[in-house]
Amino acid sequence: GYRYFINAVELAKKIMKDTILPGDITIDCTVGKGNDTLLLAKLVGPLGKVYGFDIQSNALDYTQEKLKEENLIDRVKLIYDGHENVLNYIEDEKVKLVIFNLGYLPTGDHNVVTKPETTIKGIKGSLKLLCKNGILLIASYIGHNGGLEEKERVEEFLNNLDQKTYSVLKFQFVNQINNPPILYGVEKL
Ligand code: SAM
Repeated sequence: GYRYFINAVELAKKIMKDTILPGDITIDCTVGKGNDTLLLAKLVGPLGKVYGFDIQSNALDYTQEKLKEENLIDRVKLIYDGHENVLNYIEDEKVKLVIFNLGYLPTGDHNVVTKPETTIKGIKGSLKLLCKNGILLIASYIGHNGGLEEKERVEEFLNNLDQKTYSVLKFQFVNQINNPPILYGVEKL
């Protein structure tokens, strides 16, 4: 049958499919092996744009190859830099959706993890770029070293966003063992 509440990553994909329109500008702040980048590239269509950030060049190389194979590279700009520097690359564009998939790349170097300071800076920059009704999604993992601290910093930051300007949700599976990821969603009003 059709399942809706599978996990944070799948829920994020459903939200992307529901909200992104052809021609939209989007950002994947943690490209990794490019699963979200690929979906974004399909959803924005040939007239849209996807910016992708990662600090692991081999992850970006892998994603670039996948995008080429699927003829989607024309609308994607992969940037070998941290998402904390997002405003150095994107300025006057109205961004429809930004996604962060925090933590480490399971198939990559587990020592390369997102960090509270840079994550918060990336989130702040992303919020500046969002258009009206633009959406920020953050999948946060608490099972690894430093994950819980990062989740708490992210949550504290989001908890303090003014409700007149942002609508903020937390999607958390409350009956699952082994610290399943949490999905945060922010809509700019
Ligand atoms: N969504 C990705 C996918 O489909 O494969 C998985 C992302 S993985 C959980 C987290 C990624 O964030 C890693 O590839 C890691 O290199 C990257 N990363 C860590 N710190 C970063 C930073 N400051 N800016 C951008 N990417 C960063």
